[in-house]
Order: sequence, then C-alpha cells, then structure tokens
Amino acid sequence: MAELPELTILQQQMHDALSGRQIAEVELLQEKCLNVSVGEAVAALTGRRVTAVSRRGKWLCLHLDGDLLLLLNLGMGADLWHYGPGAERPAKYQVRIGLDDGSGFTCRFWWFGYIRLLTAAELPQFKETAKLGPSPLAVSVAEFAAIARRTPRSTVKSLIMDQEKLSGIGNAYAHDVLWQAELHPQRKLGSLSDDDLAHYHKAVAEVMERAIALGALEADFYRAQGNLQDAGRLFLIGYKEGQPCPRCGTAIVKIKTGSTAGFICPTCQAE
Ligand SMILES: [Zn+2]
Repeated sequence: MAELPELTILQQQMHDALSGRQIAEVELLQEKCLNVSVGEAVAALTGRRVTAVSRRGKWLCLHLDGDLLLLLNLGMGADLWHYGPGAERPAKYQVRIGLDDGSGFTCRFWWFGYIRLLTAAELPQFKETAKLGPSPLAVSVAEFAAIARRTPRSTVKSLIMDQEKLSGIGNAYAHDVLWQAELHPQRKLGSLSDDDLAHYHKAVAEVMERAIALGALEADFYRAQGNLQDAGRLFLIGYKEGQPCPRCGTAIVKIKTGSTAGFICPTCQAE
C-alpha cells in the first residue's frame, strides 16, 4: 500500500539522497516490469546523473540528465531502500541502482510493480500518467470545487478515489478524509454546498499532512523501522470497526461502497 503520504515521504527522501549523483551500476532482475528490454534500460541509465525526484499520482519519477525519465510505480507496495557507501545491501530485490559514491538503492515489489523508461518529450503522451488529475494538495478550493462540479452525480468518495479527478489517494486514506470532512461516502457531489466543498478540501490537506508528519505507513527510504507507524495509530477511523468515533463516540461501522468497503461514523457522516 503506497498512497500520497507514503510516496510524498519517499519522493522527498529520494530527492535529497539521489540528486546530483551519477548512476554507476544498474541491475534489473524482472524484465516484465519494464517497458523496454533490460539491455536497453541498462545502456540508457548507466552514466546518467539524477537531477531531481518528483511524484505524479502514485508514480515516482527520477529525472535524469539528457531529459530521460525513470518512472517507478510500487503497485501494491514495495521495499524501496537506500544503502550507504560500503553498507550491506538488502538481500532481495528486483531493481538495484548503484551510484558513483558507492551508495545506491534497491526496490523489492511485494506483488508486482512497474518501471518505465521514457524521454521527457514522451511524457505528455504516456498513457499511464497522461490522464492523472492534479495532486489534491496542489489545488485551490476553487479548483477542487470545479473538479467536483464536473460530475454532480458521482459520489463524494469518487472525487478522491478517481485518479483522473485528483490523483494520489486510494482506499486506505479515503475513510479518514471523508470522516474528517463529515461526509457520507455515497453522497452525491452535486448535493454539496460551497461550504461543504471548502470543508472537504481542508479535510484532504489535514489528513494527508497528519499522515506525512507521522511518517505514514511503511515508507522510509532509510529503513528506520522505528519510524514506521502501525495502522492503529496512523488511521483515525479507517479499519476501526466497532471502536468509538474520536469526535462523537459513536461506534464506527463498515459499509459497502461500490466495489470497496468503507468505514464511517454513522452520526458524523449521516447519509
Ligand atoms: Zn462521530
């Protein structure tokens, strides 16, 4: 599970650790994760310098000199771990990028991940990211409301779950965002007032910023296991069926919302 808070932390840590370093060694042990052959990828990456690391939806993007991009999608989750010069490397991985100072990082996908190599010029047409909506933390209240009003018959949950509307949040954090916004997941976007939308917009930022400040879930480039949060501390009401709502004390219930489950406080989030 890697959503906006986890990926924001990884992106910032990777940007700090990798920017300015040159790629010296490349190991790619799972060709089916790639959009090019292993040989092509190794030849294209070796010798390039990392200029920045950014995030687009659930993708991490290494910017390399010569306008090359290495995109990484962790899928259901991954151990994305840094190692220092001369330090012991993680035992298992599908990807290893070694840098000019002897440091580097490895990536072990828990299930299956995606690695894409493309030029900056190809990015706007790249199918897997071209349609992604903006980050919910990067939009103003007015932009957030405008996106919501495009589909008045869609549910409030779809605004943060549909990656073409706003990208980065998935089911794990959606429960807490909707609880913070005091909205039932299946309410229609068209029923929200300007005040409701402003409250919703603020709730997204509050829940995401809280999760990032707590270190999110299983996201640390430096493998500082002590920084990892257990879900019970991280989530406000998500996955806490039967426990009291932190706002009003009503027992949290689990409901079905479309194809996924939802956790709500039936008092704070009346339909
Ligand atoms: Zn409540």
